[in-house]
Amino acid sequence: MNGEANPDIRDITLAELEQFFLLHGEKKFRAKQAHDWLWRKSCQSFDEMTNLRKVARQLLKDHFSFNTAVAGIHQKSADGTVKIGFRLHDDQWVEGVMIPSEDRMTACISSQVGCALGCKFCATGRSGFKRNLSAGEIVDQVTGMLGSGSGISNIVFMGMGEPFLNYENVKTAIEKITSDDGLGMSSQRITVSSVGIPRMIKKMADDDPKYHFALSLHAATDAKRDQIIPFNLKHPIKELADSLKYYNQKTSKRITIEYILFGSFNDSATDAQDLANFCRNFPVKINIIEYNPVKESGFTKTSAEKTKAFVTFLEKRNIVVNIRKSRGKDIDAACGQLAGNQLKIKN
Ligand code: SF4
Repeated sequence: MNGEANPDIRDITLAELEQFFLLHGEKKFRAKQAHDWLWRKSCQSFDEMTNLRKVARQLLKDHFSFNTAVAGIHQKSADGTVKIGFRLHDDQWVEGVMIPSEDRMTACISSQVGCALGCKFCATGRSGFKRNLSAGEIVDQVTGMLGSGSGISNIVFMGMGEPFLNYENVKTAIEKITSDDGLGMSSQRITVSSVGIPRMIKKMADDDPKYHFALSLHAATDAKRDQIIPFNLKHPIKELADSLKYYNQKTSKRITIEYILFGSFNDSATDAQDLANFCRNFPVKINIIEYNPVKESGFTKTSAEKTKAFVTFLEKRNIVVNIRKSRGKDIDAACGQLAGNQLKIKN
């Protein structure tokens, strides 16, 4: 068989791999050995699987390929944030960001090449949608970052793409990252951030996730949200709120709401009141995020005074609010800025 046309071995389940070996006259336990190399030891070639006998390795070579996302271009920000471009097997690029802080190293990773949702403030949305990442390519971003020598304490799916539009691969990747047969990281340290796909929020709730979920809300009325998140035109706030209620009832978890403050757009006392009204539906925690203007988006960052007034308004209504400063602005690595330069080079 032509190696290039072969499926990525990381897209094959352990059960399928067992069937494969049995079908080709090999012992079933070879599958577990190969699986260990793939997910626990993060190997990138069949030749690394040294405890598989040669004939078993050749079988794998003949039928599968490695479509690894390879860490390429690194850019380091003045604040220590590092952006990494990952080259994919089909010559596409995605970006991931390592964000150091006093007590943690957060890996911000991508779930898709580009994004179809076209949010007006987001550089990724402006680049259009290319394709979903495979579970292996998602995990590669984590192992690539681990390979840079820094540990990772937290993972956020806040890079390129809408994770809930690539739900199954994101779910499989999280399983591989958290399982003892994989990287063994705690699911409590993983957050999946979504613009809010109601049917997928309900599906996630049914799946009883151990990871955290964060909603990118950014405006609490349809009149405003429609202007920045086109997806909201078809799936308005009421539908979104219903799905969040369902999630809260099913999981008993509070909802983390991400809210970027845009200057003179969603930062007034009325906007704060609208947000407080939205939050009456379920227990919440709000992260207020500083915006990094994306060229030609037309949006600006709000002032420090307005941010303070907005936060105070919410806190007086007993809502838990955190302010998230943006990091990595000078290398276009901050929230909403991943596009990225590599993609521009390629297209
Ligand atoms: Fe896609 Fe998220 Fe950007 Fe919206 S904000 S376009 S969902 S990547």
